[in-house]
Amino acid sequence: MEILKWKVFPLMFLAISFLFLYTRAPTKQSNSDCSLLPYEHFWIQSKRIVTPHGVIEGAVEVKDGMIVSVVKAEDQLGPLGEHVMDYADAVVMPGLIDVHAHLDEPGRTEWEGFSSGTKAAAAGGITTLIDMPLNNYPSTVSEETLRLKVEAAQEKIYVDVGFWGGLVPENAFNLRALDNLLRAGALGLKSFMCPSGINDFPMTNSTHIMEGLHVLARYKRPLLVHAEMVLESEINSEHNDGSSDPRAYATYLKTRPPSWEEAAIRDLQGAIEETRVGGLVEGAHVHIVHLSDSGTSLELIKDAKRNGGSVSVETCPHYLAFSAEEIGDGDTRFKCSPPIRDEANRQKLWEALLDGNIDMLSSDHSPSIPALKLFEEGDFLRAWGGISSLQYVLPVTWTYGRKHGIDLVRLVALWSERPAKLAGQELKGAIVSGNHADIVVWEPEVDFELDENHSAYHKHPNNSAYMGKRLSGKVLSTFVRGNLVYNGGKHAPKACGVTILAR
Ligand SMILES: [Zn+2]
Repeated sequence: MEILKWKVFPLMFLAISFLFLYTRAPTKQSNSDCSLLPYEHFWIQSKRIVTPHGVIEGAVEVKDGMIVSVVKAEDQLGPLGEHVMDYADAVVMPGLIDVHAHLDEPGRTEWEGFSSGTKAAAAGGITTLIDMPLNNYPSTVSEETLRLKVEAAQEKIYVDVGFWGGLVPENAFNLRALDNLLRAGALGLKSFMCPSGINDFPMTNSTHIMEGLHVLARYKRPLLVHAEMVLESEINSEHNDGSSDPRAYATYLKTRPPSWEEAAIRDLQGAIEETRVGGLVEGAHVHIVHLSDSGTSLELIKDAKRNGGSVSVETCPHYLAFSAEEIGDGDTRFKCSPPIRDEANRQKLWEALLDGNIDMLSSDHSPSIPALKLFEEGDFLRAWGGISSLQYVLPVTWTYGRKHGIDLVRLVALWSERPAKLAGQELKGAIVSGNHADIVVWEPEVDFELDENHSAYHKHPNNSAYMGKRLSGKVLSTFVRGNLVYNGGKHAPKACGVTILAR
């Protein structure tokens, strides 16, 4: 008996510890309220699945939040498994990753907030968004303010949310502050080369930017730059002389000429050059946000890339969809900075996007309360600058892009693959085995009217510049880490998105 006991005991101990380890192993949140599906192992089947190897017919196997296999129909031996969601002809592709959104929480939830913003994102096929460090209050410029944001996001986000920190004069010369902000998980930093419009987020000059890049180089994270530089001479000579009608879009357009973008990008050239291999800030990366000028500014970025600089550039759907000529008097929904420029500029932006000279797209969803848009006065010079668009970026890109020859593979490169890389998200942005099961299912051929009857989830939907448009591309389902978070007009009962912090 004694001997037997000593033989059995270690075996029992092993079995118990195995059971303990197994049940404690980190698995996906098992709370079924996180998903509209009651199971965690299933197949998403379609005739059009967009993979890095092209569009295939087949199925994506999802288990515990991850993609565990991608099976081509022609290679499939026997039936798939118990739970198959057959989407027939609908497109299955990686969820969109929006690297530029302002959700304004904490501090300005009357403008947007994590709950409404991520509900809109999910309904629009966005599975990850990276929140900007300003328009919330306080601005996210320190470890403490980043914590406030992460706390505010808890249990409110329907999609995964990461955070950019802010590079401002106050922290640029304080190595420890920047270090702490990056160590706390900011995926990179954002700075402005002109006034941001937010008092606690002042602009930076090229010296601040170089300081920031030194720190970022160590973490191998990017600096996102709002590249517009105020050229006083131009304002004084041409504008603000009191004679122009503030309700005319042309009046506003003249106040922010392409030369502002050009001057900022020219000023950045030195810093970008130092990001090259062997440069002073090798390892850092410069990303120019929301490029509007498809002229000299774009040429300067192309030069910087040719010279070996680590640099990328995004533009936004509103610069691709609209042109200055069609913006009506007083319609401040279209005010943003840099501004939407003329039709010739818009055509060249499309060319650059399809040539690969513009690397990616982002929403720059920048909502506000209607009062700040001054709809009654229609004063373009005084109204809040920012376009509300989050839920619509997929159909907008598709609707306008089709005319320019955009295809599904390109769409995924611009909205998922490259944004994932910029944000350092290796397990996102592509439908491949081993990645997070972040997936959008949508019908490119289905049109809808964007009017009051359309369910919008972000706040103040009438502020959106897209209101009144007819768009193609209806989102059916959105999966985030295997959770079906949005399906046919319904969201999962619980918001189980994950806050993404860099390590
Ligand atoms: Zn922005």
